[in-house]
Amino acid sequence: MHDSSLWRALIGVENTVIEGVEYDAEARTLVVSVRPAAQRRRRCGRCRARSPGYDSGRGRRQWRTLDLGTIRTWLEADAPRVKCPTHGVVVAHVPWARHGAGSTRVFDEQVAWLATETSKHAVTELMRVAWRTVGAVITRVWAEVTASTDMLGGLTKIGIDEVSYRRGRLFLMVVIDHDTGRLVWAGEGQSKATLQGFFDELGPERCAQIGYVSADSAGYIADVVAKNCPTAVQAADPFHVVKWANDALGEVRLDVWRETRRAARANSQGRGRAPLDVGDPFPAHQRLKILTRSRYALWKNPENLTENQRAKLDWIAATDDRLWRAYQLKEALRVVFKLPHDEATEALDAWIRSASHCQIPQFVNLARMVKAQRRPILLAIEHGLSNGRTESVNLKVRLRTRMAFGFKDPDALIAILMLSLGGHRPTLPGRT
Ligand SMILES: [Zn+2]
Repeated sequence: MHDSSLWRALIGVENTVIEGVEYDAEARTLVVSVRPAAQRRRRCGRCRARSPGYDSGRGRRQWRTLDLGTIRTWLEADAPRVKCPTHGVVVAHVPWARHGAGSTRVFDEQVAWLATETSKHAVTELMRVAWRTVGAVITRVWAEVTASTDMLGGLTKIGIDEVSYRRGRLFLMVVIDHDTGRLVWAGEGQSKATLQGFFDELGPERCAQIGYVSADSAGYIADVVAKNCPTAVQAADPFHVVKWANDALGEVRLDVWRETRRAARANSQGRGRAPLDVGDPFPAHQRLKILTRSRYALWKNPENLTENQRAKLDWIAATDDRLWRAYQLKEALRVVFKLPHDEATEALDAWIRSASHCQIPQFVNLARMVKAQRRPILLAIEHGLSNGRTESVNLKVRLRTRMAFGFKDPDALIAILMLSLGGHRPTLPGRT
């Protein structure tokens, strides 16, 4: 048929013969019958080696492909088996789909692109697939990238981190390249064995090239790093240290909030009589309201505050000594990481001293943690590790993990993280 090249272009396939097209007006579906071009026939589905035919397999089968306009479309073809010298009896290779896939390459590429660019809802609605199908698609797209790309080449400075998923019950271990800001590896679990899996993949020669490793303070990470990269500098991750301070501040805020709520309730129970805090310019219920809304003002970096958030901080400074001191301690620790190394040493020691004596239990405890990590923290500052970059990769990993919450299969979660943040983003079919 003379318009077969148009059909090939429309459905986005190469090395494929179009045998016929059947439109079912009632079901609004289109089935395009195809077969591999002569040079692509009788090849192993796994290694593509030319192989003798074995049998006709399970007969004809269909592959879901991109809709044509508004019409759902399938490709249909025979799926014979061949006998590969290496892989034995396998279903023969087809040029329009990955081995074992139920959908075509163009379909998979569009799903993978959408999964890294848009919401779960957008992908599943637009492509008319279940989220677990999206998981299966991105897992095979990522497997193809790893088969042809060395993700672990040229690493010298790495960051190791743990990310929780499934409501904090399961963990992934992720490795970031500090030089490129890319995610280079992710594995399921939170143990010595998980991390050892990374170093095994890296191999002894490339382990020797690693000069610098940052991680949070989990002891087992330090042990595994020391065993595999004995000469590497082990530093703290500034991102984690700042996060500890933010967590401590969050706890102080919650304490103050609870005490204020108790006071507000005591007042409202005395309704009818004069309120207990008469004469106080900030009655307890008003205090509670402002505290409830102050979370982001306390958490954000001061240079990014809105007018309104700045006003909330001013209010806290004027009315709550404990929360205000906690805020200042958090900010002072954050600033240490922005200082040159010589000033940072002095500033960090001064910080540890003042936090140890601040009489706010959460910050006394934080001072103890920071003191225990003093050397790795100073090493991070000495090596000029950019807090901003690690923080942004960390946040993106967490954001993606939340979005991918519905994946039961950790391989799908790993695939979406690596495709999104590993420097190999999928492209839309037919584009370069
Ligand atoms: Zn083979």
